[in-house]
Amino acid sequence: MAQKLKMYIDGQWVDAVSGKTREIINPANGEVIAVSADGGVEEVNRAVAAAKAAFYENGWWDTPASERARLLFEVARLLEENADQLAREETLNNGKPLREAYFDVSDAAGCFRYFAGLATKPHGQTYEVPDPMQAMVVREPVGVCGLIVPWNYPLLMGVWKLAPALAAGNTVVFKPAGITPLTSVRLFEIFEKAGFPPGVTNLILGPGPEVGNAIASHPDVHKVAFTGGTETGRNIMVAASGNIKKISLELGGKSPNIVFADADFETAVDYALFGIFANQGEVCSAGSRLLLEESIHDQFVSRMVEKAKKIKVGPGLSPDTEMGPLVSKSHMETVLNYIETGKKEGAVLACGGSRITAGECADGYFVEPTIFINTTPDMTIVKEEIFGPVLAVQKFKDEAEAIKMANDSVYGLAGAVFTNDAAKAHRVIRKLRAGITWINCYHPTYNEAPWGGYKQSGIGRDLGTFGYDEFTEVKQINVNLEVAPTGWFKE
Ligand code: NAD
Repeated sequence: MAQKLKMYIDGQWVDAVSGKTREIINPANGEVIAVSADGGVEEVNRAVAAAKAAFYENGWWDTPASERARLLFEVARLLEENADQLAREETLNNGKPLREAYFDVSDAAGCFRYFAGLATKPHGQTYEVPDPMQAMVVREPVGVCGLIVPWNYPLLMGVWKLAPALAAGNTVVFKPAGITPLTSVRLFEIFEKAGFPPGVTNLILGPGPEVGNAIASHPDVHKVAFTGGTETGRNIMVAASGNIKKISLELGGKSPNIVFADADFETAVDYALFGIFANQGEVCSAGSRLLLEESIHDQFVSRMVEKAKKIKVGPGLSPDTEMGPLVSKSHMETVLNYIETGKKEGAVLACGGSRITAGECADGYFVEPTIFINTTPDMTIVKEEIFGPVLAVQKFKDEAEAIKMANDSVYGLAGAVFTNDAAKAHRVIRKLRAGITWINCYHPTYNEAPWGGYKQSGIGRDLGTFGYDEFTEVKQINVNLEVAPTGWFKE
């Protein structure tokens, strides 16, 4: 019997008022693993009302930072205590290899700990003014925050927003992607167990255009934090404009990974593969464009192909799996269509390019690790985010051309450079128009450091003190130290 997933509103576990449900699928074999409540506008309205009451009337606003920190530390502890179940369910629902799911759970616990610690640290400032005044700045929670996240890291993308929002003293209405609700439900069970008061944390399950839009346009939500596709981000901006919400958007990318001829060869090959094939390539910051210096192109590609062919693709729960299925049938079809377009437009497949239908992959949504060479900058596979295990290799002659090609994108999320010349590495990184960059590595991500993009990759930052500040308002307080009339108006 597939388990039933409910929403969590005002401290109660509830079904959709409409009675609607949705089947949740294991992408490794197409089987139904759960049946989720499928909420709508009515649930959003109830959740926002509960979050508003919890914030303004029921005391959450005045909860001491130390108490919020205590709750967040407890969430971290419970995440670790339930790591086996959480990792397994993340893999069942999203498809990713189990070892990656364990990393996600561990990162999620670390994220709660980081923001629990930050909650009690100094956040204010004083400023110098000419009058006899005590002038200061305090940070206050925004109020009710709407949080909307995608399916590629169902637990972790949620945690990146929930932890800072709650640490800063907000109440939340949270919506995971419709197809990956499993670990969000577990996380909200943990919130309940940790002891968050009713109304502080609310979980709505349901379709993006209806539920997401209802959150983004709600007049009592004063901040919307979104991670997802750039087109959806545009819709959210429009929906959020009604009451001039604060917004932060973590959107798509088509990130360049630049390898110079003087780089450590095996390290660069290793990270080039990790950059695009980790998490099946369903990573916003994936190194999906590999820019190779001409002189090493052929040797580099043949070494990558040799290694890519050995990547063990299979169900995430199989112990030796290194790359899992794509998240859904429709997403797999999108990725396969991009591969067809790449071939039609003249790119050449160095390896991969097909769905895998043999053995334990027979009923799932598996695509081979795919590498395209002979690409040109105008090709669809070079310009658009594919969000799958598909790498487009480009060639460059010199540093100036590498920078120009790297920045030739509407996106600006991430980028990396591999070289043994430290000055060149820094020169090139500083010229990249991207918010997340690496030198001689790809993908390491830290709770301490701000995460987000330039250009159409987003607005604002997750994580670090920057991510915390996104969930606060700034108030100046000017205190008169000589209490006397100004005498401005004569009697
Ligand atoms: P998506 O934009 O389709 O959906 C993201 C979330 O928005 C889901 O919860 C969805 O239900 C909801 N949604 C859909 N339509 C909506 C609407 N009209 N109004 C409000 N909410 C709506 O994205 P996805 O397919 O789930 O995820 C893939 C995308 O996410 C990729 O583009 C990827 O680059 C991006 N992403 C970015 C980051 C980052 O940090 N920059 C991280 C992970 C994923």
